[in-house]
Amino acid sequence: MTRITVAKGDGIGPEIMNATLNIIKAAGAQIEIDEIEVGEKVYLSGNTSGIAAESWDIIRRNKIFLKAPITTPQGGGYKSLNVTTRKFLGLYSNVRPCISLHPFVETKHPGMDIVIIRENEEDLYAGIEHQQTDEVIQCLKLISRPGCEKIVRYAFEYAKVYGRKKVTCFTKDNIMKQTDGLFHQVFDEIAVEYPEIENEHWIIDIGAAKMADTPEIFDVIVTLNLYGDVLSDIAAQIAGSVGLAGSANIGEECAMFEAIHGSAPRRAGQNLANPSGLIEGAVMMLNHIGQTDVAEKVQNAWLKTIEDGIHTYDIYKEGVSKQKVGTKEFSEAVIANLGNNPTILKQVSFAKDAVLKLPKYVKKPAANKVLVGVDLFVHWNGTNPNEIAKKLESVKLSNTDLTMISNRGIKVWPEGFEETFCTDHWRCRFKPNDGKTIDKGHIIAMLSNAVAAEVDVIKTENLYEFDGKLGYSLGQGQ
Ligand code: NAD
Repeated sequence: MTRITVAKGDGIGPEIMNATLNIIKAAGAQIEIDEIEVGEKVYLSGNTSGIAAESWDIIRRNKIFLKAPITTPQGGGYKSLNVTTRKFLGLYSNVRPCISLHPFVETKHPGMDIVIIRENEEDLYAGIEHQQTDEVIQCLKLISRPGCEKIVRYAFEYAKVYGRKKVTCFTKDNIMKQTDGLFHQVFDEIAVEYPEIENEHWIIDIGAAKMADTPEIFDVIVTLNLYGDVLSDIAAQIAGSVGLAGSANIGEECAMFEAIHGSAPRRAGQNLANPSGLIEGAVMMLNHIGQTDVAEKVQNAWLKTIEDGIHTYDIYKEGVSKQKVGTKEFSEAVIANLGNNPTILKQVSFAKDAVLKLPKYVKKPAANKVLVGVDLFVHWNGTNPNEIAKKLESVKLSNTDLTMISNRGIKVWPEGFEETFCTDHWRCRFKPNDGKTIDKGHIIAMLSNAVAAEVDVIKTENLYEFDGKLGYSLGQGQ
C-alpha cells in the first residue's frame, strides 16, 4: 500500500481526477490517499504560492503527488505552483511520452512514439535576471555538472527499463560551447556506460525541425530545460492532442504526476473533459511506485477504449469515433475494459520490478582553478570602441592589458567592423601581460581605477582555467 497526496485542482480538475482515481482503484491500485487543496481558492485567500504550509508537510511525507491542473489567477503576483513544486522538491526530471494513437486520433505522424526527458531545474529557468544598463538586461543560464549527470543518467536508465533503443541528446553547443557543451560532454560520458542503447547528438534547431517532420526516427530525447519545454509541447501536439499527454516530474526523494494541459475553465463542471492526460500521469505514477501490473492493466484498457471509438468531444471524429461520451462515461468504459488489450494499437508490457537505478551524485574532486584574467562589463553611451579602449588605459595595471572589447558578444576592439551595431553594454577583457596569473587584489585595484576614471563598471566576471581548460568563451570573431 502506498500513501499518495492528491490535489483535485480547479476547472475540469475534480472531474478528471475522480475519473482517474476510479479507474486506478478499479484496476487494483494499492494506494491510500491524502487530499490537499491547491490552486485558485488558496491563491484568492491571499496565499500567493497557491498552497498552504500544512499541505507541503503532507506532500513531503508521502513523497508521491498526483496533481490535477489548477488555475493561476491573472495578475497579482501569484507564483506558479508547478515551478515552485519542481524547485522545492528537487524534481529534476520531466518525463513526457508522446505517442500517436493513429488511426483513432488524427495525426500526421502515425508512427510517432517518443519520450521527451527534460531537465527541470536549471538553465534560463533559474530566473536570475538583472537590468545592467539603459539598454541591456541579462538572464543567467546556469548549467551544473550534477544537473547534467542526473538528467542524462535518468534518460539512459529510462531507456533501459522501458526497452527503448536509442537516446538522442539535443543541445546548441556549436554556440554555447561552455553550458550546452557541458551537457553534451556529460551525455557522451554516460552513454558509454550503456553500450546496448544507441546514442546520438543533434543540434537543437535541425533536431527540432526533424522531430516535427519525422518524429518516428526518434525514441528517447534528452535535453535542457528551455529546449525541452518548447519541444515537449510540440511533440504532444503533433502526436495528436495536448489533451492526451501526461507527465512525470521526478526527483531523488519525491515525484509529481499530472496531465500536461491546464484547467480548461470553460469546460468545467459539464462532464465534457477528456481525463486521458491525467490517466497517463497516473500510469506513470503506478510504474514509479512499483505497481507495474496495475499500470499495464490501466494503460491497455485505456488504449482499448480509444480503439473502441469511445471518445470525448475533443478527439471525437465522425466516421472514426463510435460514441461521443462525457468524462464519467469514458472512465466507466475504461473500467469495463480492464483486463482487455488493444488489438490495433500497440499493447504495452511493463517490466516487473522495473526500477530505475539512479545513484546519488558523487562530488568530483576540485580541479586546479587558476585566475587568468577578468572581464569588466561597462555601461557606456558612446559608439566608437576606440574611445572606450582609450578610457580604459587608466584602468589597467602595470601587469594587465586590455586584450579585447566585445559588445553583445561580438568583438569590436581591436580591429572591429564599423558596421557592427553597438549598444551601451561593453565587455572589456583584461589579462596579465607578464605570462603569469592575476589575483583578486588586481581586480579590486582595477575597479578602484575605474571609479577614479568614472568608468561605470556594472559587473565583473572572473576568467578561470580549470585543470588548464578554458572556463570562459572567447569573443565572437576573436
Ligand atoms: P488549457 O490546457 O486549460 O486549455 C487549452 C484548450 O484545450 C482549451 O480549449 C480547453 O478547453 C482544451 N482542453 C484542455 N484540457 C482538456 C481536456 N482534458 N479535455 C478537453 N479539452 C481540453 O490551457 P489554458 O486555457 O491556456 O489555461 C487555463 C488555465 O489552466 C490557466 O489558469 C492556466 O494557468 C492553467 N494551467 C495549469 C496547468 C497546470 O496546472 N499544470 C498547466 C497549463 C495551464
